[in-house]
Amino acid sequence: MSRSISFSSSRAPHSARALSHLIRASRSFFRRSIADPVESDLSQYEALLVKIRACRCSQLTDGDLRERAAALRARPAPEREVEAFALVREAARRSLDVEPFDGQLIAGLALARGRMVELPTGEGKTLAAVFPTCLHALDGRGVHVLTFNDYLARRDAAWMGAVFERLGISVGCAREGLSSVEKRAAYACDVTYATAKEAGFDFLRDRLAWRVEDLVHRPFHCALVDEADSILIDEARIPLVIAELEGQAEEKTRDLADLAKALVRGQDFDTDAEHRNVFLLEPGIERVESALGRDLYAADGQALLQAVHSALHAEALLSRDVDYVVRDGRVEIVDEWTGRVVEKRHWPDGLQAAVEAKEGIARRSRGRILGSITLQHFFRLYPILAGMTATAHSAADELSEFYGLETVIVPPHVPSRRVDEPDAVFVDRQAKRQALVRGIADVHATGRPVLVGTSSVRESEELASDLAASGVVCVVLNAKNDEREAAVVAEAGLPGAVTISTNMAGRGTDIRLGGADERERARVVALGGLLVLGTCRHESLRIDRQLRGRAGRQGDPGSTRFFVSLDDEIFEHYSLTQELRGHGASVSGQDEVSSRVLQREIEHLQRVIEGQNFDIRRRLTQYSALAELQRRITQERRDALLAMDPSKADEEGPGALPALDPELHARGRECLGVVRLAALERRVTLFHLDRSWADHLAWLQDTRESIHLVRLGGMAPLDEFRKQATAEFLDLQRRIEQDVVAEMSALIDKGSAADADLAHLKGPSSTWTYLINDEAFTLGVSFGQTKNIGTAAATALYWGPLMILTLLADRWKRRRRRVSAR
Ligand code: ADP
Ligand code: MG
Repeated sequence: MSRSISFSSSRAPHSARALSHLIRASRSFFRRSIADPVESDLSQYEALLVKIRACRCSQLTDGDLRERAAALRARPAPEREVEAFALVREAARRSLDVEPFDGQLIAGLALARGRMVELPTGEGKTLAAVFPTCLHALDGRGVHVLTFNDYLARRDAAWMGAVFERLGISVGCAREGLSSVEKRAAYACDVTYATAKEAGFDFLRDRLAWRVEDLVHRPFHCALVDEADSILIDEARIPLVIAELEGQAEEKTRDLADLAKALVRGQDFDTDAEHRNVFLLEPGIERVESALGRDLYAADGQALLQAVHSALHAEALLSRDVDYVVRDGRVEIVDEWTGRVVEKRHWPDGLQAAVEAKEGIARRSRGRILGSITLQHFFRLYPILAGMTATAHSAADELSEFYGLETVIVPPHVPSRRVDEPDAVFVDRQAKRQALVRGIADVHATGRPVLVGTSSVRESEELASDLAASGVVCVVLNAKNDEREAAVVAEAGLPGAVTISTNMAGRGTDIRLGGADERERARVVALGGLLVLGTCRHESLRIDRQLRGRAGRQGDPGSTRFFVSLDDEIFEHYSLTQELRGHGASVSGQDEVSSRVLQREIEHLQRVIEGQNFDIRRRLTQYSALAELQRRITQERRDALLAMDPSKADEEGPGALPALDPELHARGRECLGVVRLAALERRVTLFHLDRSWADHLAWLQDTRESIHLVRLGGMAPLDEFRKQATAEFLDLQRRIEQDVVAEMSALIDKGSAADADLAHLKGPSSTWTYLINDEAFTLGVSFGQTKNIGTAAATALYWGPLMILTLLADRWKRRRRRVSAR
């Protein structure tokens, strides 16, 4: 039985995967036919547009504009909308010397209603966002405009600042690396530009504050997210983490790494078709057990089993220089989307340690995690949330399900003249590369600018050196500096420019044909505008559309084409190369393959992969939802404590701690006085709350990393996780009370709260923040569809790895029975 997924729509679906895809597709069709997440009727916005145009503001002085805007602050948002938009329109005319397009106003109106707006690249989303931003900023409770990177936050704050200032609306930028005083000032502005990550890290830092005046954020009000598909979907599942800077004991992962190296694929272990999961086979289990001298499936062996899995995962599924690089004695993760090394990102602890052990690197101290939140949950903290991007349509279902965001598609103000040519398909990578180099050289000779999107830095560099050998000079974007990249991408429309970049580099930067010079522009237009070439199709159609969108800005001419080969990674990854070869039988000259059939196959494959990724994200959300609920409960309690003012403590009222024994409380009041006792209670409780919460996070993470193993015991991991995490959380509440009461008793018994006794009751001395690359959390997640091993066994006939699981499950059950019989 082939391990590949059934990708051809012309054949009967024959694997569990294809079947589940079918069910999913029909479910999503059903859902769509009831409630379409895409709003296509723009008439309600057009009616408002007429009203906005009717507001004449051109006669007003600058002072009048400010006064009018100030007067609007007293009115509720829906009532002031038309006038606010008219004022922004006038302020934009004066400050930026542009006449906002109707499409920008429509996008602004949709954003004001908390929609996800699709507006093509180059149509001016930056300005469109200023309309709803001003509207909501007039509430005086702060609007956050969340950008794709730090450079764009600074650029947009400065660029749009003039419009806001003309209306008396203050603007700040919460850049990375600002002091907390500067951050607080930035968030105190009516409008704050920042990256989503930085706003999230600031949120986590605030959760550790011991004084209200140390908080940098105000309560959240409204967020507008730019490049929203990338941030709300691709990055949304990444947990942001704040941790204590402190050493941690070296773990014994080195031996396991050596053991994993010695295991043989196909004999001792195997991976599933998508290379997402790795499984030990029976002979492998025996080898590991005899090497460790321990029973891997003993009742108390979950941690060891997880460590073995991590070692195997690091060895079999992660490759140096592809998934990560080793630099300055550190393992640094390479981002799957940008192909670039991402700073401040780690795998979950167990896997990170395993990779470091595999590379023989000393374990970096990581410190205790003190707080964590996924971007997805972070966004949900904003009562008003809206987003904009050039490619929302294909993610509309997901945006609706995860964020309740309805998508509105706004057409460009001049119809697009871009031509998307059918893919050029080649038998292998070498043929593709040759054709690509030849094609670029030919177009370059005419002076037409070319932008090439690659999937990795390595590919960019190889292509550049091949081009150099053919006498074509090009610019390669692989700088880590977003600002420098933006400057280079801005020049990509100059005559004769050949620019090579990974797919996300320079996102958010406008590419003008001919640069700033109008004569040059005419020349480039005559040549056909910008030519965008992709060196492969991506796993998501959305990413392909992002790249194509670089050409044909604001009605410019332009064309796009993807170069594809049958041995591209995307096909090899899904074991499709051979089958595609069968389809593309008609090899024409130059190794180019007739692509009609293939085109359909590729798009079908993309839909299947997108569906799978959607499922994985859905599953991750199910896991993180419970942790988030617990975080909120804990935070509410902490916020109340933080806000408590001991100097206002009431002689009669109960203290912060209802659990404190009344007698003890009375004694405390007597020897410390009401105010000092209240201050002490507050301090002791804050300390134990934070400490216990950090313990709980560690517990959640460990359990989360290993819970998929319970499937081997025939249980449903998610149900089991919920059960265990709920019990643990309830227990945590009891422990906090106990710890606080014990500490308070000791202090009161001493009869004084001397400073020396309180020295340990403080927050962490220093912290650092990073992102967890939770790829590894998909371990076992893709098996989530089948609730129990019994059903899984039915499909195992069709699906190799499941058979292995069943085998393991039986063994696990057998042993558990043995253990419990003892
Ligand atoms: P997007 O984010 O949608 O890709 P940007 O906000 O970067 O687009 O704007 C693209 C370009 O369009 C910028 O150079 C900007 O100055 C220009 N622009 C925006 N709005 C207008 C307008 N109403 N009239 C003319 N040019 C505009
Ligand atoms: Mg933009």
